[in-house]
Amino acid sequence: MKIVTILGARPQFIKASVVSYALVNAGIEEIIIHTGQHFDSLMSDIFFQDLDLPQPHYHLNIHSLNHGAMTGRMMEQIESLLLQQELPDWICVYGDTNSTLAGALVAAKLHIPLAHIEAGLRSFNRQMPEEVNRVVTDHLAQLLFAPTPLAVECLQKEGIFSGVHLVGDVMMDAIITYQVKAQQTSNILAKYQLHPEEFYLATIHRPSNTDNQHRLSAILESFNKLDYPVVFPIHPRTAAQIRTTGLNHYLEQQSIIAIPPVSYLDMLMLESACKAVVTDSGGIQKEAYILGRPCFTMRDETEWKETVDVGWNHLVQPETLNDAIANFTIPKEAPKLYGSGDAADQIAKLLLA
Ligand code: UDP
Repeated sequence: MKIVTILGARPQFIKASVVSYALVNAGIEEIIIHTGQHFDSLMSDIFFQDLDLPQPHYHLNIHSLNHGAMTGRMMEQIESLLLQQELPDWICVYGDTNSTLAGALVAAKLHIPLAHIEAGLRSFNRQMPEEVNRVVTDHLAQLLFAPTPLAVECLQKEGIFSGVHLVGDVMMDAIITYQVKAQQTSNILAKYQLHPEEFYLATIHRPSNTDNQHRLSAILESFNKLDYPVVFPIHPRTAAQIRTTGLNHYLEQQSIIAIPPVSYLDMLMLESACKAVVTDSGGIQKEAYILGRPCFTMRDETEWKETVDVGWNHLVQPETLNDAIANFTIPKEAPKLYGSGDAADQIAKLLLA
């Protein structure tokens, strides 16, 4: 069996690393196409170096374009690559980026079965580019690997029943796979002289937070009011927005430890040791939960609603962050929400079947 996997963005490299490993173990041939959506070494190469992810067979180098141009060019090149070779049995895509959408549309046009990993997620906010990508991809997929019962429910509400499998979350697999390696090899805590529970970890990159100068400055200002310093690995898009809108002075405050994006292994160490996470990332909300850290999500809604329902994740605004942290009490329970860490094996078995 042959599978073509389309990847392009940081979280997809992390998710694919555990699935690729499971595919090899199941005897499946995998061809990886990297669209280039995330391209610099700290957003891409570092994950291929640190994790069990084979180098891509093809690199399309498509990035830094508006949504239409980016998705269109990706489609054109993916289609032409696939037509040059024997068509695969499946195309596999992850999550909700433009690379996901491009892969899904090409699969549909070429009548190649499509598998969607992390299917059924919904924020119900169509202003988010990711939400549109998720909805379209789910409606084109023949195999939908849902991470949670809520994701299955969302698919069913949209009339999608066939091909849906609740397998758990591959990010749970990734944490289990890489946690020990992170403890053995990462020196990030020593490098920045960080002590457990004496710093916050923040990441911000969603357009709703970065593309409005007032909002972005309010977020940076809110970090300033916290009781411990904030380690802030800055996404390149956020860094560019901070630069172009003249907000650089916030990064010079003592309260913010601004650092470049870190490797996944370093990230696991930061997430495990911090007092709490402040983020607008999808993946980091889940990782905080799995690692037992409180999370404060700088958004109006989240597609990982179960973390909010169990009390470990709170939706906040810049103005409410401080109070939310001060009033937070650790919930008594942390039920298993994301499976047992065997999602990748289940996915490989289901693809073979
Ligand atoms: N991540 C990382 N280094 C960083 C920031 C994030 O390795 O500097 C990892 C993080 O641990 C998670 C994933 O990247 O596994 C989340 O990616 P991101 O926040 O970019 O995307 P989202 O999950 O919001 O789609």
